[in-house]
Amino acid sequence: MLIEVDNVTHIYNDENNVTALKKINLEIDNGEFIGIVGHTGSGKSTLVQLFNGLIIPSSGAVKVNGKNITDEKTNLKETRRHVGLVFQYPEHQLFEETVYKDIAFGPKNLGLSEEEIETRVNEVMGLVNLDYEEFKDRSPFNLSGGQQRRVAIAGVLALKPDVLVLDEPSAGLDPQGRKRLADLLRYLYHELEMTLILISHRMEEIAELSSRVIVMHNGEIVLDGSPKEVFAREQKLHQLALDLPQITEIMHRLKDRGLKVETDLFSLEKASEEILNRLRGCEKC
Ligand code: ADP
Ligand code: MG
Repeated sequence: MLIEVDNVTHIYNDENNVTALKKINLEIDNGEFIGIVGHTGSGKSTLVQLFNGLIIPSSGAVKVNGKNITDEKTNLKETRRHVGLVFQYPEHQLFEETVYKDIAFGPKNLGLSEEEIETRVNEVMGLVNLDYEEFKDRSPFNLSGGQQRRVAIAGVLALKPDVLVLDEPSAGLDPQGRKRLADLLRYLYHELEMTLILISHRMEEIAELSSRVIVMHNGEIVLDGSPKEVFAREQKLHQLALDLPQITEIMHRLKDRGLKVETDLFSLEKASEEILNRLRGCEKC
C-alpha cells in the first residue's frame, strides 16, 4: 500500500482549536488517480499535507510505503522525494532569479550532479510545455500567471516523485490553461504511470480524470468510490451543496423530463452520443 491513513484526527492548536480531520481511515494504492472534492474548510488541504509529513496529526498514524511517517525517527526528506506536493497557488513560492534556478532548487537539495540537474530541468520544462532555451534564463516574475504556475509544478516534478499531489492546481486558470493542465495530468498518469492526487472544485475535471473520487465534509470522508458511483449520488451531493459535473447535471434533467438517457456520463462527446441515440429511438445503442 502506498499511503495508509489510520484513524487520524487533526486539531489545529490555535485560539479556534478547529478539528480539521476526524478519525480518517484511508488507503491509496500505487496507480490510482484520486480526485478529492468538498467544500472550503472540509479538510482537503489538511488531509493531503499528511501525505508528506508537512502536518503531523494530533492522533493516529500515516504510513507511506509501509513506513510510519508520524514516527519522529522517520526521515521526512526521503518521504518528500516520493510524495511531491504542489500547493495552492504554488507560484507564490517562486523566489529564484531565473526559471532554471527555481526548478533546479529541489534537485540541488537532493545533492544531484550539475549534469543530472540540467537534464531534469530540461525534461520537466518539456513536460509542462515551456521551451527550455526560451525560458530558462528568464525571471519567473516576468511570466504570465499560467506560466509561473507551470514553473512551480515543474519544480516539484524535477524531484521525480512517485506520487504527485496537487491542491487546486486549476484555480484561476483560463480555459486554455485548464486544458493544458488536464493534458499534463493525463500524460503523467497514463504515460509516466505516476500516482496522482488532485484536489479540485471543478467536478468536470475530477470526473474526467480520476479513477476514484473522495468527497470530504466537515473533516470526514463521506463518499469514496469510482466517479460513476460517486456522481450517481445526486441527492447526497446536492445535500452537501456540491455540484455534479455539468454534463451529468444535464443528463439528470433530461431524464427527469422523460428522456431515457444514462446519467453517468462526464464528457461532452459521450453525452451527445447518448442523447442522439435516445432521440433516434435506438434502444440497443
Ligand atoms: P479545505 O482545504 O477543504 O478548504 P482545510 O484543510 O484548509 O480545508 O481546512 C480545514 C479546517 O481547518 C478549516 O476549518 C480551516 O479553517 C482550518 N485550518 C486550516 N489550516 C489551518 C491553519 N494553518 N491553522 C488553523 N486552522 C486551519
Ligand atoms: Mg484547501
